[in-house]
Amino acid sequence: MPHDFLQALTGSFAMPAAENPTVVMVEAAFRQLGLNWRYINCEVPPERLGDAVRGARAMGWRGFNCSIPHKVAVIEHLDELGESARIIGAVNTIVRRGDRLVGENTDGQGFVQALRAVCEPAGQDAVVFGAGGAARAVAVELALAGVPRIDIVNRGRERGEALVALLNARTPAEARFLPWNGSFRIRPATGLVVHASSVGLYPDVEAMPDIDTDSLQPHMVVADGIHNPPLTRLLRAARSRGCRTADGLGMLVNQGVIGIRHWTGRDPDPQVMRQALLDLGL
Ligand code: NDP
Repeated sequence: MPHDFLQALTGSFAMPAAENPTVVMVEAAFRQLGLNWRYINCEVPPERLGDAVRGARAMGWRGFNCSIPHKVAVIEHLDELGESARIIGAVNTIVRRGDRLVGENTDGQGFVQALRAVCEPAGQDAVVFGAGGAARAVAVELALAGVPRIDIVNRGRERGEALVALLNARTPAEARFLPWNGSFRIRPATGLVVHASSVGLYPDVEAMPDIDTDSLQPHMVVADGIHNPPLTRLLRAARSRGCRTADGLGMLVNQGVIGIRHWTGRDPDPQVMRQALLDLGL
């Protein structure tokens, strides 16, 4: 049997990198697809990002992910941006097409794909908590998926208003900013409640976003971007109020599915990827 000792390379550039479980999820997908590919998790400090991208080009990497703090900074080292990445202004997945490196943003697309397993977002009014990188990606993709009205609720006014301005200027949705100063009551007309701030992320798992859970109603779908732990306090409260829920592990897995499709042209099994993460004890 012929051997192929030259594996196709992908990976991640981030700092810190040690607690990022993506390598386990992506390599499980490569094995499931029977691909002789690797995913190399690299810790890259901000001042070496340009060298890392040039290295990936020199070594013929098929693509890579960028995470904190590189999602915006990487753009100046790329040749082109996909539509979502251009609107969001950040990149999490880089794809080599010929000799060109193309920046895509799959965070929000992964979120919407995971949400679609629970409900169709088009036509539903949404409230999004947070205005950082995850919230920007999620809100833009919800707008592109046909959500007509989006309330952005954020602690800091500046980031919240910047996201609202972006949504109103660059997407068909109508957005407004609401300050997050105290327990927030969800309006009964809301269909989608999306938590995209970092409150409740491991190790601070008992932290609860300041949302009045008595205002949640059974017709609402509640989604949380936090992937560790997958069953957050917010999602537990939402379920006890009769709401359907979508967890952050679904978002993580589905952005990975879309990234692997960009790199390999193949569709991995999301269940295999989710199980690889659950086997880690997430
Ligand atoms: P950022 O640092 O860019 O943004 C953090 C957001 O959380 C801001 O809106 C910030 O508000 C808000 N925030 C932080 N602390 C508090 C608090 N105590 N009370 C109220 N709001 C607070 O982070 P990201 O957007 O990149 O990430 C946000 C979360 O999404 C993280 O937990 C991350 O793990 C998760 N994520 C999940 C992904 C997945 O695939 N499941 C993918 C990407 C991210 P302010 O503007 O006022 O500071």
